[in-house]
Amino acid sequence: MSKDDAFFWEGAQEGRLLLRSCASCGEIAHPPLPMCPHCHGLEWGTVEASGRGTVYAWLCSKHPNQADDKGRIVVLVDLEEGVRLVSNLLDTEIDEVTAGAPVAVTFVEVDGQILPQFRMTGDSA
Ligand SMILES: [Zn+2]
Repeated sequence: MSKDDAFFWEGAQEGRLLLRSCASCGEIAHPPLPMCPHCHGLEWGTVEASGRGTVYAWLCSKHPNQADDKGRIVVLVDLEEGVRLVSNLLDTEIDEVTAGAPVAVTFVEVDGQILPQFRMTGDSA
């Protein structure tokens, strides 16, 4: 966690998925950048994402010290806002995940920190 993405974690504590948008041109940048790649603006605001997106890529991450651990599914989500977010996919099996599957954000407390995670919505893409 750094100063640049503090807004993201503060938003998550309130159950909001916040993204950084350029104050000059409105372009959304994620991960947050110091300078807008489009207009070189240095002023940023935040926009609340819809929390909907589709699966772009995924992998199963197993804990190295727990051989029988089911592992968690790490996904790269294409958000509706046009940016990609790395998160975890909950309540599904790795072989049920497909590219382009619709997902929606959900907020889950992990070790006292509320994190944005995703679930497959079951809607047809
Ligand atoms: Zn800009």
